[in-house]
Amino acid sequence: MRVYVDESICQGHTLCAMAAPELFDLREDDGHAYVSVTEFTAELMAAGRRAASTCPEQAIVVED
Ligand code: SF4
Repeated sequence: MRVYVDESICQGHTLCAMAAPELFDLREDDGHAYVSVTEFTAELMAAGRRAASTCPEQAIVVED
């Protein structure tokens, strides 16, 4: 169970970090998002699914 960002697709729109700030941060150098946790609770997985639905690039991968 995990959520991650395909940084080759991410365009740094920040929508994921606004939708789920407990799960995503943005890199200072290129503005791309990354997942800031290593332990994925059911709540974080749900937040990841919600954020994935907001990402215009479909760069968020949710693995159940
Ligand atoms: S919403 Fe998608 S494209 Fe935008 S920063 Fe998040 S992962 Fe990247």
